[in-house]
Amino acid sequence: MKKLSCRVLVVGGGPAGATACRELNRLGINNILLEKNLNFTKPCGGGLMMSAFSEFNIPKSLIHKKINKIEIISPTLKRAMVDIKDYPLTIVNRYEFDRKLRKLAREGGTTIIEAKAYNIDLKNSPIVFAKSKNMEFEIHAQYIIAADGVNSTLRKKALNETPTRTITRYMNIENRDIDSCQFWFGSDISPKHYSWIFPHHNRINIGLACDNEKQITEYFHNFLKKSGLKSNNRAKGYYIPQWSSKRVVYFKKNIFFVGDSASMVLPFTYEGIYYAMKSASIAVNAISKNEPSLYQKEWERLYLKKFKFLRLLQRLFLSNDYFSERLVQLYQKKSFQKSVITYWMGEKEPTDTIYTIWKFIKVIFKY
Ligand SMILES: Cc1cc2nc3c(=O)[nH]c(=O)nc-3n(C[C@H](O)[C@H](O)[C@H](O)COP(=O)(O)OP(=O)(O)OC[C@H]3O[C@@H](n4cnc5c(N)ncnc54)[C@H](O)[C@@H]3O)c2cc1C
Repeated sequence: MKKLSCRVLVVGGGPAGATACRELNRLGINNILLEKNLNFTKPCGGGLMMSAFSEFNIPKSLIHKKINKIEIISPTLKRAMVDIKDYPLTIVNRYEFDRKLRKLAREGGTTIIEAKAYNIDLKNSPIVFAKSKNMEFEIHAQYIIAADGVNSTLRKKALNETPTRTITRYMNIENRDIDSCQFWFGSDISPKHYSWIFPHHNRINIGLACDNEKQITEYFHNFLKKSGLKSNNRAKGYYIPQWSSKRVVYFKKNIFFVGDSASMVLPFTYEGIYYAMKSASIAVNAISKNEPSLYQKEWERLYLKKFKFLRLLQRLFLSNDYFSERLVQLYQKKSFQKSVITYWMGEKEPTDTIYTIWKFIKVIFKY
């Protein structure tokens, strides 16, 4: 058993963990990163807003595709094209993206160990136990950052629970390309959620989320048929967190939960990469001030209203086909598109929230 110690131990080397390490390095805080599989490719559409690249100093060479249009498709196949060229979305390849962020962390001073954390001792200051192919580790740290994703081992060990989550099914189809990101709504393909088609480099990534694991195969077939796509590839499944304000645990017994381990995926849109990185950087700021409670305060100041609002919209508009139809109809209006996009990008204050909901409700009941 190899004994190590550091000020901060980061468990999980996805966007949250790697960003935490980079921020710790910037502030001169000694850290170790444990990643169970340095060749892992996180199942993900790879959609990330362009502004994240400058905010987190990420090389733009990681952008596989720049998206200026989003297409929204209603249950009865009506379409709305949303122009997002003022706030473009990028597509990244998660294998390259995660590796590059970890490389930058290593160059900044992080010690990276390929090992799986399997237990934690929280009696005094935390000790994490980890295993690699040929070695066992006992790592002592003042703080732990749990960035170990939706199946978080640390969350299970420390809180005896997993993040609330839903299942997704996804597939890559080679030699196909489109120039927009498509979001499809309908109770025949993904009730209460959406199905997507995202372009990558000479391939597309398609998928859907679903609360009913038993029916997901049927919904996936329906989606392939409805979208006119064919493939002999095998669809795969992976969980995605479902954010709920009641279930978020930010900090407990010197462990900060960040990214998917704290369910920080924006409801409705399912953006998780940005919020994983953001939560990590807010947690590191709290560590640098030795004030763990700052993490929750700052996160809630920045995002609580937005997350609640998006969850409300998801519940409202994706609850049935009638409302989803109305949503696409609303998206056909340029003024609505502009107001939603600026809100989504954080440029509009949530004080407009009540007005926006009122507008939605008026449109819904007009028809
Ligand atoms: C099908 C699908 C499509 C998605 N599409 C998008 C999208 O287009 N845009 C978007 O923004 N978000 C998307 N998401 C969500 C996004 O992928 C996640 O929110 C994001 O990856 C969270 O980052 P993270 O660092 O918290 O966790 P992860 O990226 O899951 O990283 C966790 C890391 O921890 C490691 N790990 C796990 N357990 C241990 C352990 N015990 N010890 C050591 N290491 C461990 C894992 O190997 C992994 O590298 C999608 C999710 C799914 C499932």
